[in-house]
Amino acid sequence: MTAATNEYPTKAYGASDTSGHIAPMDITRRGLRDDDVLIDISHCGICHSDLHTARNDWGRTTYPVVPGHEIVGTVAALGDGVTRHTVGDRVAIGCMVDSCKECSHCEQGLEQDCKQGMVGTYGGTDRHDGSKTHGGYSNRIVCRDEFVLKVPDALSSEHAAPLLCAGITTFWPLNTWKVGKGSKVAVAGLGGLGHMGVKFAVAMGAEVTVLSRSEDKRCDAMELGAHDFLITTDKAAMKAQSGTFDMVLNTIPVRHNVTPYLHLLKIDGVQVLVGMIDMMPEVHTGLFLGRKILTGSGIGGLEETQQMLDLCAEKNIVPEIEIIPMQDVNTAYDRMEASDVKYRFVIDMESLQ
Ligand SMILES: [Zn+2]
Ligand SMILES: [Zn+2]
Repeated sequence: MTAATNEYPTKAYGASDTSGHIAPMDITRRGLRDDDVLIDISHCGICHSDLHTARNDWGRTTYPVVPGHEIVGTVAALGDGVTRHTVGDRVAIGCMVDSCKECSHCEQGLEQDCKQGMVGTYGGTDRHDGSKTHGGYSNRIVCRDEFVLKVPDALSSEHAAPLLCAGITTFWPLNTWKVGKGSKVAVAGLGGLGHMGVKFAVAMGAEVTVLSRSEDKRCDAMELGAHDFLITTDKAAMKAQSGTFDMVLNTIPVRHNVTPYLHLLKIDGVQVLVGMIDMMPEVHTGLFLGRKILTGSGIGGLEETQQMLDLCAEKNIVPEIEIIPMQDVNTAYDRMEASDVKYRFVIDMESLQ
């Protein structure tokens, strides 16, 4: 198993059709190229995208698919040219496993927006041999060394896992727009992403308000460190806060009206939609007066992802998690759909052995 040309038989869990039912399957990881790292996976977070992909909700899934892009594990073997990692290192992989690394976007450290398209950790196409990529619901993975991040000692593997998607997706816009002391930030949606958005914004020194349709999540929001809670259906309360926010970090994962959140922004304020939600309802252009910005962002580049992991270790910013065995993944999907998780499921890959 150590020769560089050998392939690695791998235990995995994946979906074979649009039912999205996740079941055991055997896959093969490629033999190591010069710049490849073999990783024994210890933990993998469960992201909403996993569920949408497994069920072909976005219409572009090809089966079989092995989801999982919040991967943490240990380096088990190295390609001949790898110098940045050592066998035994604790490492992580997020939503991408490759990009061209040459285009102007990649050169700026924005590999996620590579002009040739980044290669997704699952359901992507390998740039060299055209094979399909498979994700972290498996006991090991092979990945280009530059796309393998280091997990700082102070971060446990189970807590590091959700940072690779939910973490960087919320950290990146907050960091890009330089949220800090004196910033007023609203976080819309309090799920896997939103709860990390609150933790990051609080850690950065911002005054943080959670936006929600009902009173239900007030206690949770405050426990996560939010300073205020605003019910979006309360017109008087919304009006009172109109024009007061520097940023609305919008993590709501379904189609919705973004207009009320634009009202909340001050001059030059920005509403960032994280992830993709397909078509949105129409917005009146008058709402952009005052140089208000409506924009989007997806994950973050490699360098900033490493920065985020280091910051989380330094400041003890960790996700709230529930650890499950691999065999419970279908139940976890059902519970995630019902918002019955605080706030991220993490699969303990020991259960796959
Ligand atoms: Zn994700
Ligand atoms: Zn590129």
